[in-house]
Amino acid sequence: MKFPTVGEIATKNVVSINIRKSIAEAVRLMFENDHRNVVVVDGSSFRILIASDILKARSQNINLSDQLNILNLEIIPTMTKGNNVLQTLEHLSCNIEYICVVDDDGSLYGLVTHTDIISNIDPETLMESFCLHDFLKLSKRDKWIKKEMKTSHILNEMAQNSLDSVIIIEDFKPLGIFTTKDVIRVIKNSSDLELPVSSYMSSPVDTIFRGSSIKEAVAFLKNKHYKRAVVVDKDGNMHGVVSQKELISLAYSKWASLMKEHHEELDKINSKLLSRSKKYEIIASTDPLTGLYNRYKFSKLYELSYSTMMERSSAVSLLILDIDNFKKINDTHGHNTGDTVLVKLANLLQGSLRDMDIVCRWGGEEFVLLLLATNLKSSVLLAEKLRENIEKLEIDTVGKITASFGIAELIEGDDLKSTVGRADKALYLAKESGRNCVRTQNEVVD
Ligand code: GH3
Ligand code: MG
Ligand code: MG
Repeated sequence: MKFPTVGEIATKNVVSINIRKSIAEAVRLMFENDHRNVVVVDGSSFRILIASDILKARSQNINLSDQLNILNLEIIPTMTKGNNVLQTLEHLSCNIEYICVVDDDGSLYGLVTHTDIISNIDPETLMESFCLHDFLKLSKRDKWIKKEMKTSHILNEMAQNSLDSVIIIEDFKPLGIFTTKDVIRVIKNSSDLELPVSSYMSSPVDTIFRGSSIKEAVAFLKNKHYKRAVVVDKDGNMHGVVSQKELISLAYSKWASLMKEHHEELDKINSKLLSRSKKYEIIASTDPLTGLYNRYKFSKLYELSYSTMMERSSAVSLLILDIDNFKKINDTHGHNTGDTVLVKLANLLQGSLRDMDIVCRWGGEEFVLLLLATNLKSSVLLAEKLRENIEKLEIDTVGKITASFGIAELIEGDDLKSTVGRADKALYLAKESGRNCVRTQNEVVD
C-alpha cells in the first residue's frame, strides 16, 4: 500500500489557453467555465493566470486585448501523473499554490493544489482510497463451510476455533451465514443438530464487492446493522469476511504505520506548510508593490487603535496622502516608472514615521497614515514635514513630485469609513486649493 499518485488526486477539469491569446479571451474562458484560474500554455511550460492577475492588469490600465505573455505570469512546477504525492514536497516551498500534472508525453493532465496533497494523507482519505481487498489480506481467516455439513459439526468447529460466524458456501458462492445468534437459537429450540447447517443458516447473505472502499464498507455495515461483511469478487465468489471493528482498526493501524514510515517527509510537509501559512499571512496583509500594509490589514489596525484611544483617552489622527498629477507621470514615463515612484514614496513614508505609527497603501497612488497619540495640530506639523520631504525627493527620469494631504482626528463613535470620509473631504479641499498642501477636517465647509 502506498500514497496516491498526483494523477489520482489531480483536478482534471482544467481550462487551458495558449500564451499568445489575449487576456480578454482568458477572462471569457474563466467566466464560461466558472473557473478561478486558467493554465496558460507556453511551449512546454505552463503558467497560471488567476483572478488577482486580471485585477492587477486592470489597475495598471493594461489593455485586455493584449497577449497574455505581457503579464509575466509565473511558471508552475510540473510533475508527471505517476509521481507519488510525497514527491511533491520539494515544490511546496515555492510561492505558487499549484502543481501542474502532465501525461507521460508532457501534455496537460490536471492541477494539484497543496491542499489536495495534504488532504490525501489523512486516515479518512485512506479509508476512501483503499479497498477491502487490501485489508482482507491482513485480517484473520474465517471458516467457509459447505452446505451439506452437519450442524453439530459446525458447533464444534465454532467452539474450537472461537469463531463467531461461519459462511456457508456452494460452488464458492456464499449461500448463507451462521452466527453465534443462530447457535443460541438452535440450542434453545433443541433443534436437530444432525441436520445440515443449511437448515438453520440465514439466507440469502448480503455481500459487498471486494473493490469497495473501506469507507463504503463501513457505511454498508452501519446501514444494515451488520457486524461483519461478506466480501465477494466480481463473479460473486467468496473472498473473505471482515468485521466493522477490524475494518476501522486496520485502517487506522495502517495509517499509523504509514505515518511512522514517512514521518520525516511528513515533518517536512508540516514545517513547509507552517512557513507557507506565515507567508500567506504576510501576503494577505501587505501590498505587493510597496510592501506596506494593505487596506484589509489597516482596517484591523484601525479598530485596535480606536479601542486604545477610547481606553487611554489619547488622540489619534488619520491622514490621507494622494500624489498630485500621478496620471501624468504614468502617461509620460510609463507604468513601470509610476510604480517606482510609488515604491520611493512608500519608503520615504516608512522611514519618516515613528514605530507606533501605521502606514498603508490605500489604493492606487493614495496612502493612509494612522498617527497614534497625535492630535490634529501635531499631525498638521507632521504632514507639513512629510510634504516638504516629498517635494525634496529627486526621482530618476521623473524629477520632482508633490502630494496633497487631508487630515481627520478620530472621535468617539467613529469607524474607519467615517474617519476616512472626513479626511477625504479635507484632501479634496487640498486638491481644490491647488495641490501640494495640507488641509484638515476643520477647514471643510459642508
Ligand atoms: P490628482 O492630482 O487629482 O490626484 O490627479 P492624479 O492624476 O494623481 O489622479 P487620478 O486619480 O486621475 O490618477 C491616478 C492614477 O494612478 C490612475 C492609475 O492609472 C494610476 N495607478 C493606480 N494604481 C497604480 C499602480 O499600481 N501603478 C501605477 N504605475 N499606476 C497606478
Ligand atoms: Mg487618487
Ligand atoms: Mg493623485
